[in-house]
Amino acid sequence: MPKRMVVLNYQKCDPQFCQDGVCQAALLCKRKVLSQIAPHETPELNSEMCLGCAVCTTACAGQALEVLQW
Ligand code: SF4
Ligand code: SF4
Repeated sequence: MPKRMVVLNYQKCDPQFCQDGVCQAALLCKRKVLSQIAPHETPELNSEMCLGCAVCTTACAGQALEVLQW
């Protein structure tokens, strides 16, 4: 069975362009794979919890999130 997991491109991620500096993708992820300690901070990724559903990618204004499959 193929494995799917989100990756975060830190060069594209810029919370300053997100609503009130809040990572909108982190708000959407029900498994809390993305966590942001405070607004305007770069979110951290706990990829092991990721289901690869790609819901978060639709919320990321900077298109910094991508789901890879292998
Ligand atoms: S929504 Fe995208 S660009 Fe904004 S903080 Fe989250 S991962 Fe970074
Ligand atoms: S792909 Fe799904 S489970 Fe993984 S971080 Fe995005 S919303 Fe969360």
